[in-house]
Amino acid sequence: MTAHVTEGAPLRLFNSLNRKTEGFTPMDPVQTRIYSCGPTVYNYAHIGNLRAYVFTDTLRRTLNWKGQAVKHVINITDVGHLTSDQDEGEDKMELASKAMERDIWQIADHFTQAFKNDLARLNVLSPTLWSTATDHIHDMIAFAQALEKAGVTYELETGLYFDTTKVSGYGALALTPKEGQAEGARVERVEGKRNPSDFAIWRRSPSTGKRQMEWLSPWGPGAPGWHLECSVMSMKYLGSRFDIHTGGIDHREIHHCNEIAQNQAFTGQTHPGAHWWMHNNFLIDRSGKMSKSKGEFATLTSLVAKGFHPLALRLMCLSTHYRSELEFSDEILAGQLVRLKRLVGAVSALRQRVEPAPWMRIPAEIGFSSGAAFAFPRAILEQGLPGAAKKILSEFDRELADDLMTPRILPLLDETLHGKMTPEETLRVLASMDLVLGLNLFATRRSDLVLRPETAPLSAAEVEVLMAQRMQARSARDFTAADRIRDQLNAAGVDIMDGQIPPWEWRPTLPVSQK
Ligand code: AMP
Ligand code: ZN
Repeated sequence: MTAHVTEGAPLRLFNSLNRKTEGFTPMDPVQTRIYSCGPTVYNYAHIGNLRAYVFTDTLRRTLNWKGQAVKHVINITDVGHLTSDQDEGEDKMELASKAMERDIWQIADHFTQAFKNDLARLNVLSPTLWSTATDHIHDMIAFAQALEKAGVTYELETGLYFDTTKVSGYGALALTPKEGQAEGARVERVEGKRNPSDFAIWRRSPSTGKRQMEWLSPWGPGAPGWHLECSVMSMKYLGSRFDIHTGGIDHREIHHCNEIAQNQAFTGQTHPGAHWWMHNNFLIDRSGKMSKSKGEFATLTSLVAKGFHPLALRLMCLSTHYRSELEFSDEILAGQLVRLKRLVGAVSALRQRVEPAPWMRIPAEIGFSSGAAFAFPRAILEQGLPGAAKKILSEFDRELADDLMTPRILPLLDETLHGKMTPEETLRVLASMDLVLGLNLFATRRSDLVLRPETAPLSAAEVEVLMAQRMQARSARDFTAADRIRDQLNAAGVDIMDGQIPPWEWRPTLPVSQK
């Protein structure tokens, strides 16, 4: 069912290639092909990394919502990514293995699994295919041989290198003028490199030591370069031309420029491989861009331990456009948790006024489908809705079609709740919107959201009981009792947010430094 592709607002997406928002036309009218650079699994993902996948999930859900099936590939980088993106330093995986004194394969397994668990908790749909770098070494060697044959490589003591002057327009994605590189815009540290921007395709193992991960190749035992793996795996599964390639904005400057150069040299054409190159901006905190190498960073698990529900992080990501910097603090996240609680509370209150029906299961079940278009459930949800509902849904569609303008979409949830539709109509509209937002509004219970820090003196259930008692005392105008309960809650690390309309919300008291 492809009706929504033509029915809705034409989808426009920002293409980093020309820094313009352009109308999106998939190569195949019924299926869009997307490749997303995946995590380097030498450590847990921080919440900045996770932002990158909430972004790709929103993109994918949007395409589904508009009637497109999506073939989505995410890779796992378990070899080849060096401590500097400029192709210098040590392999991050080898370093982690030394530091943790554990086998490198165990490390890769452990952090891959942890990453997949994080995505599931964030309600990010599983990709159609996970592709792991170390499962594709033979493909990479064959690809590198083809590059060698095309005359764009040269060999050094340290391995096989790509000569970036051999493709025209190298670095166009980064808007880096070629002259700048020739003048030494980047510091050259590998002896013998012809140009500062040249990069390793195959890294030969040093004669003095064996790596844990190494393979035989025509250029000696060694390991592939990080940039090589993404060209190889995207082409293998999505073809030499596909629709969209995504990554964080840091990839726009080097990693993706190098992928494009490889793709061009391999195909002998100027086409960069993907038509759209899309990049999410950084998640930042007080100290700047969040990064794994800083050592201290927030993970999803560390937030859950503080009492935050993972979907509050998803909502926080959606509250800022993916191309803007997203500022993170516990305080901001606490605000999003309260917002989510209000939404979930409103949905469950409405559900009590509507007979259970099969369509109500759609929003929850969708999370388990992989690659299928959402057009079908959407048609069921929206069947027979009145004009007011259609109007708000078309506004939602318009904002979404405008390069995924999620911050302008979120207020539409409140508008729907406060509109004049029947409870069932309101719920159907919210369910349809949630196919894209993935906030799991129908499957989450308010009690799931009131997680408490593991060390909290009162459990969430105990807090809820005291909150209800306090509300009763206030309605009976027994303010002394109400204040006593408030003090008791405050002393247990609970902040109460009285609003105009009960039930009032609460959240864990934040450390003073976060306020
Ligand atoms: P890595 O595991 O370092 O290879 O990164 C996985 C993904 O997270 C890549 O798409 C990065 O560009 C992206 N990324 C890294 N740091 C941040 C950040 N602070 N905010 C948003 N995205 C990021
Ligand atoms: Zn990549």
